[in-house]
Order: sequence, then structure tokens, then C-alpha cells
Amino acid sequence: MTHWLPVLVQTPAHSAVAGPLTYRSEFPLAAGSLVRVPFGTREVLGVVWEAPDAGPPQRLELETRPVAAVLDGVAPLSPAWRQLVDFAASYYQRSLGEVALAALPPQLRDLSAAQLARRLRRPAAPPPEAPAGAGPAGNAPDAIALSAEQARALARWDAESGPFLLFGATGSGKTEVYLRAVQSLLARDPAAQALVMVPEINLTPQLEARFVERFGPSWGAGAVVSLHSGMTNPQRLKAWLAAHSGAARIVLGTRMAVFASLPRLRLIVVDEEHDPSYKQQEGARYSARDLAVYRGRLEGAKVLLGSATPSLESWQAGEKGRYTRLDMPSRVGASGGGNGSADAALPAVRLVDMSLQPPRTVFSPQLLDALGRRIARGEQSLIFLNRRGYAPVLACTACDWKSECPNCSAFRVFHKIDRTLRCHHCGFTERVPRACPSCGNVDIAPVGRGTERLEEHLEELLAVVRRPGGEPVRVARMDADTTRLKGALQEQLARVHAGDVDVLVGTQMVTKGHDFRRITLVAAVNADSALFSSDFRAPERMFSLLMQAAGRAGRDAARAQASEMWIQTAHPAHPLFAALKKHDYPAFAAQQLREREQAGLPPFAYQALVRADARTQEVAQGFLNAASAAAQGLAFFDRVTLYPAVPMTIQRVANVERAQMLVESASRMALQRFLAAWHGVLQASREKGLIRWAVDVDPLAI
Ligand code: ADP
Ligand code: ZN
Ligand code: ZN
Repeated sequence: MTHWLPVLVQTPAHSAVAGPLTYRSEFPLAAGSLVRVPFGTREVLGVVWEAPDAGPPQRLELETRPVAAVLDGVAPLSPAWRQLVDFAASYYQRSLGEVALAALPPQLRDLSAAQLARRLRRPAAPPPEAPAGAGPAGNAPDAIALSAEQARALARWDAESGPFLLFGATGSGKTEVYLRAVQSLLARDPAAQALVMVPEINLTPQLEARFVERFGPSWGAGAVVSLHSGMTNPQRLKAWLAAHSGAARIVLGTRMAVFASLPRLRLIVVDEEHDPSYKQQEGARYSARDLAVYRGRLEGAKVLLGSATPSLESWQAGEKGRYTRLDMPSRVGASGGGNGSADAALPAVRLVDMSLQPPRTVFSPQLLDALGRRIARGEQSLIFLNRRGYAPVLACTACDWKSECPNCSAFRVFHKIDRTLRCHHCGFTERVPRACPSCGNVDIAPVGRGTERLEEHLEELLAVVRRPGGEPVRVARMDADTTRLKGALQEQLARVHAGDVDVLVGTQMVTKGHDFRRITLVAAVNADSALFSSDFRAPERMFSLLMQAAGRAGRDAARAQASEMWIQTAHPAHPLFAALKKHDYPAFAAQQLREREQAGLPPFAYQALVRADARTQEVAQGFLNAASAAAQGLAFFDRVTLYPAVPMTIQRVANVERAQMLVESASRMALQRFLAAWHGVLQASREKGLIRWAVDVDPLAI
């Protein structure tokens, strides 16, 4: 008897083939089964998407081809997994086939049925069973005593259903809370699985070490697996199969791990939930943080989002009671820790007013002096340069004029290519003035400096300083350039931990997660660019970066009292710094949320960006504006706002002109429905010279 199977294969974005294709099979196959099917002239991996016998295909003129092979060594993907993929595809406006196949390990796509069968015949991990000695508390023999705050957070975690927002200061011991939450889960249900996500590949080895140390002794080394793009394809397949079979208890990974197949998923941790790395920036532009919350609800898994500086979206959800907030304001070991004294052992924040320094001063004498004293005492310092905010703003060096938009609470971006200032919200455009419109000064310029130049500069300035032993100062740099080679990052981190470096210069890479014990001074030398960005999220990102950076100082309780965070700024009176001085994230969040509410920005509104790449800016913008004009009358058209097309901040990349259009609505549902209806219009508006277009739902950068 013939069965008709709806099968998903990898299809290009916006191809005519959006849903499953129909294949024939002589026997029924469960939904979620993995198969090899002919597609064009190739044979590709497919996923049986619905129950078989959906009937013969609608378009009978197309010949239905038979399934070539069944990968029956791998259990079918669960209904929950398929529902997650379904949701992600429709929410982020991509084809089902693209999302489903991208969520599977790459090697699964490449192996034939025979090759996979050989791979699966290798000895598998033993099935899960309760380890000997794992009592209800499941404590490791050398368990450390929890702080009062950790104990309180865990008690609520056990008693309530969440989702939870763990708002814990840097060094408050959030990782220990994650470990204990997993421990108590496994003590109750030995077959359960936990997913723990971190924003950066760089952070997975140290996290894996802590989880293996904690769970390896009783659960075996295979109980913990990692999933991230830094692994080889065979490693990834092995880890994926361990998760899919239920053999792995704990899966650690970056954003892609949110799609791991976990049949017994009961707990999801998203560490540093505010981190922009959780948003995929190509293909299906999903937010792994948001999908984690969705998946938790879908599968009945408890969700724990952790951060010292939560995203304003999550913070607002906590304020509104949609998330349960667990507060841990004190650092572990801080005097008075546990009674809520927030800044007991957090570094003192020192602001240096750079407007009082000679123009173009990079390091103020005060900061150099403080660095010198650290070196003399054998302590380490970290110089952090925020290069993230690639959104140059023009500022007058003589007065406080900046390229503000007259129509928006935003700054216009300097476009070098045609020397204009453009607002990405309303499209308002002007040529760059020859002189400051406010004071006539001709010296108006964007500010900027990279870490490399900074390192060089610092070496010159510190050439006269000596270490306690009389040797010259050792300055090192850590950023994407110095850590490109495999193992380079670990090696550099080891040098820092060994005390081989006196001053470390780095990008945000050095501010995340690392538990540096000997650093007592952290400095941000140019913190100002983000204050005047056209992106309304820039202050939020900057505040969290600075808090994270400050979190690297004084992590050793013995040195914490003398630790300092230095910030050089020409605008010391900015309210952001007032909140930072007090380590007062809630005050900062409240102020930002007030502004966002007044301006009708997220989380009080929902946004999507449609981006177009074309040979010329006219074509890119023309495509967007034509699709916008054709949107009249579509479902929910009257509940969304379509802004005019504008060039992107980085207007041209690799000779491709890029434009974008902002779509906004007060209702997430209305925006979703409108985008679904508009998709066909965008598809039909393709014109000559257009290279590609894509929708970014809940974009992080405007
Ligand atoms: P966070 O992630 O909140 O910044 P960590 O989890 O890195 O903080 O913890 C900071 C340090 O405190 C780590 O070295 C950790 O081992 C230690 N720590 C955590 N909990 C405790 C505790 N209850 N007692 C003693 N040390 C702890
Ligand atoms: Zn001026
Ligand atoms: Zn504007």
C-alpha cells in the first residue's frame, strides 16, 4: 500500500516551496522520522513532518518520488521539537524547511543511511539511571555552603513555576544556583535533561569544566555535552545524538543549542540573558532567549534567565509579574552579604571629566597614576574599549552640539559616503554642516580608537614604570584579532591568571564571565560613543557592558575593598553614570523604561525590520517603498506603522547597497499577522537589481 508523506527538506529562504513536499513510501513512517529523499538531482536529508497519509499531493501533475532511505537508527523527532521549529519559522518569517534542517547537526545532512548506521553502531553511552549515593539533595561530597541569597533564590525556584529572572550582581554566585537547580532536578528525576545556554563559545569550556566537576563523579563524564559552532562536525553529531537519545543529562551550548532535541527536557538556563549574542544575525534571525521561554512553556520545563543587567524586555516582564524575579544583590563573601547591601564589595566607580583635559587626551593623568600604583603593588588592571557601537555620531569638540534629529529622540548617523546625517527612525536627512551649527567651530568629528592603538599608546606611557621586581611593565591585548588562532584565548587567559600580565587591554570579550582574581582596576577609556547613538538600545547595552566590566574587578574578596572602576567621559553628569556609580540597575532600568514608554519603543511596542540588499540604493529603497505602498488593505495594516525606507548605518558592504524599513505596532499579534500577510507582497515585489531581502523580527539594532 502506498503512503503519502509530507517531508521537509532544506529549501532556500522565500523559495516557492515553503512547506513540506510529498514523497511516497511503501510503509507508514511516524512524524519526526529522518529520511533521505531525492530532491532535484541530489539526495538530501528530510524530516517527515506530519502523520503519514495526508493523501496524494494536490498537484497531481507533479510526479511523486519515493523516499530513498529511512534513518531508522535515530528515533523520530518529538512533537514538541517540531512545534518549536514550527513556531520559530512562522514567528521569524522563514520557511519551515530552512529552520528545521538548520536546527539539525550539519553532519546528519551529509551522511548516507549506511554511514550513519555505522556511526551509530559505535558503543553508546549507558542509559540513565539514578547514580549511587544521589540522595534527595544530591549534594557533591565537598558541597560549599550556599549564601543566604542563593538559598532564598533556590527555595523559590523549587516552590514556584516561573519563568524566573535571576537578577544577581556580578560575583553573586549565579553559576552555583544553576548547578544546584540542575542537581535538585536530577535528584528528583534521574532521567530528566537540562539545557544551559551561555552567550559566547569562549565561555563554554570553563562552564563545562564546572558541570563535569560537579556531575561527572556520580553521573559519568558523558552526562555533560556541549553544542556550539566551534566544535567539529563529528563532535557536534555525537553530542546531538547523546542529547536526542536521552543519554546526556546536561547540554551546554550557545544560541543554536536552543534547538537541540531533548526528549526529557525539564530545565532551561539562559545565562547572561541580556547578551545580544543570543540573537541570530542571519538566516532565521531568532532570539534564543525568547525561544527558550517559549520552549519552556511548550514542554513544561522550568526556565531560569540570569543576569546582573537584564534586558529591559525581561526586566519589564519581571515588573509586570510575568517573570518571577529572584534577587541576589550581594557578592559572595561580601561583608554583610545576604542582607541586601548592594554595593558592599562592588568596585567604587570613579568618573574622570575628560572635557577638563587637553583635547585628544586618551589617558588622563589620574588614571595613569592609578594604573602605576596598581603595578607597583603587583595588582592587575583591565582597560576596556567599547568598540561595539558602530554608529558614529558627529560631535562638536568646543560646545555640546551633537547630530540630534529634530523629529526623534535619537541621533542622526553620519554617512561618510555622501557626507549626510540621517535619522534611521524618520528618514530626516541633511548634509553634514561645514561647521558646528551651534557655535561655528569647524572641528566637528566622530570619536574613535581601536584597542591596538591603545595598547601601543599605553606601552609608551608606562615605559618609565617598573614592576615590583624592577622589570618593565607587561601590557597585553585580548580581542578578536589576538585570539583568532585555536587555543590562543585559553593561553592568554592563562597568562592573565598566572599574573604574567600587568595591564590587559581588550574589547568586550574580556568583560564577559571571566573570573579574574587579581584584577583590582577596570577602566573604560572612551565610554561616550554609545551615549549619542541613533540606536535607542545603546544606553542599555553600554550600561550592561560597564557593569560587566566593573564585575571583573575585585572578585577576590580580600582585594575587593580597594577595587575601582574608572570611566573617562566628557559627560560625567549623564544620568547613566549616576546610576552606575551606585550600581543601581533598577534605577537605570526605570529611567530607560520611562523614556521608552514615552517614545513608544520596545518593550512598549513591537518592531520588525525589513532589509533589502541591491546593486544601487535606489533599487533597495524602491523595493521596500513599493512593497510598503502595496501593503495597503492587508490584514492588520491599520494597526502597524510602516516608516520610509532608509539606508542602513553601514550603507554599503562588499559593493552591495543596503536599505531597511522599520515596521512597528503596539500589538505583537497585529505585527505578526501583518508580516505573514505581507510576505507574499514582498515576494512578488522583487525587481531587477535586488539581491536579497529579509525580515528581522524583534531586531536588536535599528
Ligand atoms: P556570577 O556568575 O554571579 O558572576 P560566579 O558564579 O562566577 O558569579 O561566582 C563568583 C565566585 O564565587 C566563583 O568563584 C564561585 O566559585 C564562588 N562562589 C559561588 N557561590 C559560593 C558560595 N556559596 N560560597 C563560596 N563561594 C561561592
Ligand atoms: Zn559647537
Ligand atoms: Zn528622526
